[in-house]
Amino acid sequence: MLQRFETLNAASREPCRHLHWVLGDQLSATDLFATGFDPKWDWVLMVEAKAESTYVWSTKPRTLMFLAAMRHFADELVATGVRVLYQRLDAPDHTGTLLGELERALVWLKPAALHLIEPGEWRLRAEISAIQSVPMTLHEDPHFLCSHTQFAAHANGRKQLRMEYFYREMRVRERVLISKDGKTPEGGAWNFDHDNRGSFDARGPGLVPPPTFVAPDATTLAASAAIAAVLPDHPGHTEHFAWPVTRAQALESLDRFIRQRLPLFGQYQDAMWTGETWLYHSHLSAALNLKLLNPREVIAAAEAAYHRGDAPLSSVEGFIRQILGWREYVRGIYWRFMPEYLDRNALAAAEPLPAWYWTGNVSMRCLSDVITQTLQHGYAHHIQRLMVTGLYALLLGVDPKAVHAWYLAVYVDAVEWVELPNTLGMSQYADGGGMASKPYIASGKYIQRMSNYCTNCRFNPALASGVKACPFTTLYWQFIDRHRDMLAANPRLAMQVRNLDRFSDDALAAIRDRADAIRRSGGQPP
Ligand code: FAD
Ligand code: SF4
Repeated sequence: MLQRFETLNAASREPCRHLHWVLGDQLSATDLFATGFDPKWDWVLMVEAKAESTYVWSTKPRTLMFLAAMRHFADELVATGVRVLYQRLDAPDHTGTLLGELERALVWLKPAALHLIEPGEWRLRAEISAIQSVPMTLHEDPHFLCSHTQFAAHANGRKQLRMEYFYREMRVRERVLISKDGKTPEGGAWNFDHDNRGSFDARGPGLVPPPTFVAPDATTLAASAAIAAVLPDHPGHTEHFAWPVTRAQALESLDRFIRQRLPLFGQYQDAMWTGETWLYHSHLSAALNLKLLNPREVIAAAEAAYHRGDAPLSSVEGFIRQILGWREYVRGIYWRFMPEYLDRNALAAAEPLPAWYWTGNVSMRCLSDVITQTLQHGYAHHIQRLMVTGLYALLLGVDPKAVHAWYLAVYVDAVEWVELPNTLGMSQYADGGGMASKPYIASGKYIQRMSNYCTNCRFNPALASGVKACPFTTLYWQFIDRHRDMLAANPRLAMQVRNLDRFSDDALAAIRDRADAIRRSGGQPP
């Protein structure tokens, strides 16, 4: 029988054997049925809760991504006969929290047992694990290719974890881009970085095939209205929201990426250009993280394009490395080192996050472009996150927890298991090298090489001091100055320390003065 209750106060009710709680980033019917869900006897619970958007200051596009996808998923379940108890964000009787609504659902439906797939966040897992009021089964998440046990087997006994070795193991185990001997990489190399990482010439990217934009339907518009009512002061805008929010839309998005943008993905994966948000990236992270897509099907689609001759190996390997390598690896890091990972601050960074990270209202062109795009779409590609917003926070010395709270709040794909290691580890080096072998530092010249942002900026990336100096360049040299001992001990960065040593005392003093002035004026150059 088809039934859907919008609030927990609905009058009618049918018996419930087991209650299967589906969290907002677990929108896969396959995964639900894999946990033993039987529509004949069992119910699904889904809850939108204000507290999930307020414990970090979640932007409107990010919250809308979750709510729109959840509502569509619930509708799809109901259409196939599943009984769904659904609590909306703007329900008048809402307790405001996930656990508050769960307790009410348990009282109302009196299930004999509660089932759910493990949450993707340590905080929620700890809260849920403490539930005593009903027998509960927490299922391992079947979405990932590397289980907790498999990651432990990879990590145990290693002094240092590195994505590259993990990735090679995954390639062999999953037989992805592997030769017939089952051991050697397709094309004779594990990566083709020398063919990738290009930038655009002065003409820019030209016409890039656009991603799949989905006009918001009534369901998405209703979710957007609920956000406007309940979270009016949250940052970001929903007018531009056009993300795929159903599995069918996500599959269409995957197909279009494979056909139209994958061939040039590798070559331009690090490139940036003013006003060009989408470029040759896949924009599949939110669909993957909310489980609308399975990583296995995404990897298989990319590999098949290579075997058909539709995309070069350099692009296909570069793309698969992100999903089979980085995505699985950061999840392994997260669960292995949480909860103490969250408190790491290896560089003792303590500056506040500049207020303009929440508005984009800043005179540095690269930052204003990337933050504005982020607040409009909830999206920036990897190099924009790592080498613009992340790099600036690192050079400025911002408290890594504040940086983490920002990244978790602003992107439509942000779930803590993937966001935290990328932010705290890869971008801010707060884990002291657990994720990355060196801090990702660069001067404004890197941004100049990879984009056209500097062309229209009032600062000069070649200058390290003075009012026209690019703040990235000033803070880069001052970062090396501040962390000289740590950097000199790293063979990959010792050269940069030697370069600093060539500066005259006066030049160094001018850099320090300028860096101090930038910090005094809230990270915005005076
Ligand atoms: P593409 O460039 O098309 O890459 C393909 C896919 O590979 C992505 O969809 C994603 O699923 C995966 N991927 C790529 N890089 C990574 C990575 N470093 N770690 C894990 N998966 C990766 N990714 C998130 O999904 N959620 C986050 O909250 C998040 N926060 C980040 C914070 C910082 C500071 C940094 C530096 C990176 C972060 N990333 C995060 C990783 C990466 O930037 C995004 O996955 C990517 O930009 C999403 O865009 P896309 O789908 O177009 O990716
Ligand atoms: Fe960014 Fe510096 Fe280039 Fe300006 S000059 S766009 S601040 S890197």
